[in-house]
Amino acid sequence: MALVNKTINNPMYILRDDTERFEGSRALRYNILACQILSSIVRTTLGPKGMDKMLVDKMGDVVVTNDGATILQEMDITHPAAKMLVEIARKQEHIVGDGTTTAVILAGELLKKAQELYEDGTPIPTVLLGYRLAVDKALETLFETSIDADDEETLLGIARTAMTGKGSDYAKDELAELLVKAVQKVEDNGEVDKKLIKIHRINGGAIEDSELVDGIFVDQPRAREDMPAEIHDAKIALMKYPLELKDVNNAKVDLTNPLELQAFLDNEEEMLKDIANQIIDSGANVLFCQKGIDDYVQHYLSRAGVMAFKRVKNTDIKRIMMATGAELITNIEDLSPESLGTADYVHQEKVFDQFITFIEGCKDPKASSILIRGSTRHISSEIERAMDDALGVVAATVEEGKIVIGGGAIEIEIARKLRAFANTIGGREQLAIIKFAEAIEIVPKTLAENAGLDTIDLLVELRAAHEDNVNMGINVFEGKVVDMKEAGVVEPQRVKKQAIQSAHEACEMILRIDDLVAAAGALNTPDPDENLDDPTYASNMTGGMPGMGGMGGMGGMPPMM
Ligand code: ADP
Ligand code: MG
Repeated sequence: MALVNKTINNPMYILRDDTERFEGSRALRYNILACQILSSIVRTTLGPKGMDKMLVDKMGDVVVTNDGATILQEMDITHPAAKMLVEIARKQEHIVGDGTTTAVILAGELLKKAQELYEDGTPIPTVLLGYRLAVDKALETLFETSIDADDEETLLGIARTAMTGKGSDYAKDELAELLVKAVQKVEDNGEVDKKLIKIHRINGGAIEDSELVDGIFVDQPRAREDMPAEIHDAKIALMKYPLELKDVNNAKVDLTNPLELQAFLDNEEEMLKDIANQIIDSGANVLFCQKGIDDYVQHYLSRAGVMAFKRVKNTDIKRIMMATGAELITNIEDLSPESLGTADYVHQEKVFDQFITFIEGCKDPKASSILIRGSTRHISSEIERAMDDALGVVAATVEEGKIVIGGGAIEIEIARKLRAFANTIGGREQLAIIKFAEAIEIVPKTLAENAGLDTIDLLVELRAAHEDNVNMGINVFEGKVVDMKEAGVVEPQRVKKQAIQSAHEACEMILRIDDLVAAAGALNTPDPDENLDDPTYASNMTGGMPGMGGMGGMGGMPPMM
């Protein structure tokens, strides 16, 4: 890209000739369009009546899911602004585990409304200022409207709401119970360490066979078949230390005759035998090692009747530590009878097609484990994802004790308060606050839309109902406005707080961009020049968005602008 410098009257090259560049409003439109396409893809999955997506990767692996974060993660998104929305979903998933779709569609809608303001002549800095006032007011309303509750009934409602509309829907009552029990088991002074809860799926059996295991388990078999498959009165050693002589194996040794080689090997065997003996002498009869175990060591352990496991996952090691009181040994010299953990019974079983080793009768089971069953891999994975969301929300509720009412109730209330607040603000910022209110109504609107309901009538009815009762939301099954608190549709405050905050942050970041400079080919755009300035461009598009990895046509996109 050449810039002509008038003084020296020569073209001056500051960018490669094939660099793509979008300046000013074109950058804005280009970015917003991509974000809207992305949010329209996940939008159809929202709520109890949301649909699923089928995603196929390059290897032909299929994932069928309703989970916003999973959809975005599985799609190979290349557009830089759209990637920011993927980031929001990931952050939401990481912090609360649920509300990913909400966060993404809210960001998409905030951007869409910002563009409307901009096209009508409101400068972007004014939009940003108005949005900032609005987000503060929205959060204030959220906090004021939250209810203090963390009793068991509430927790069950929270878990059920998170699982509604997912693969787990029809067994959600049973699964919610398992989950709440699992969380209660690990709760420690109002804190929940989610890592102490293991959720493992078995691809076979019925959902109803899912169970909360008494004690804990690791999803792997013992190191060798000739080791015992069950041990009563287990004395458990936990090793971080690799039980093999890696360094010796890799060392370069100069040997000049066969006798020297034999001596070297004998010595190595002695050292390995020594390691095995140290374990056996400590009194351990079960060993979990985070690293590898040499064949010789396995052999000696097996002869002494020790049940050993190698390459045990870090999170499993932590759970075993918490539940059995075993110390994690980093240097084999430190292994002593006192460092061992205890359990009544350790036994390996085959559950459907997987080996699972159960550790039962732990003295302080501050760790819990759930085995999820589903008839196929696709079903059990989707249940696992739904349980993961539910785990996030139940933990958040136990920790924070604050809930809000779902089914669109909280969003309508925030929008109502924002409109009243806008009246107190002068200037064009007022318009931005009103647009923010409209944007947040995307949640009830989409819930209704996905259920095939008349969104305009319902929203009018809902707004009116909120004059008397802030808990009114949409019963998507009957198409009626009802009290969602009574219906038990509740969500943790943290989910909504995080969704609003991160959607606003991403929106602000994208709106501030007035120049997009991309290396040749990075954006994958055919020739967006004419198209971007044509407002009908987006609604004319039926698929294959430039820079969207060719997945833009998913899910029968509704018109967007
Ligand atoms: P997200 O990824 O944002 O959590 P979901 O597909 O899980 O998306 O949908 C969450 C939305 O569905 C929330 O707004 C929640 O209040 C709503 N919802 C959940 N259960 C019900 C229900 N039984 N009736 C109405 N709305 C519900
Ligand atoms: Mg959800």
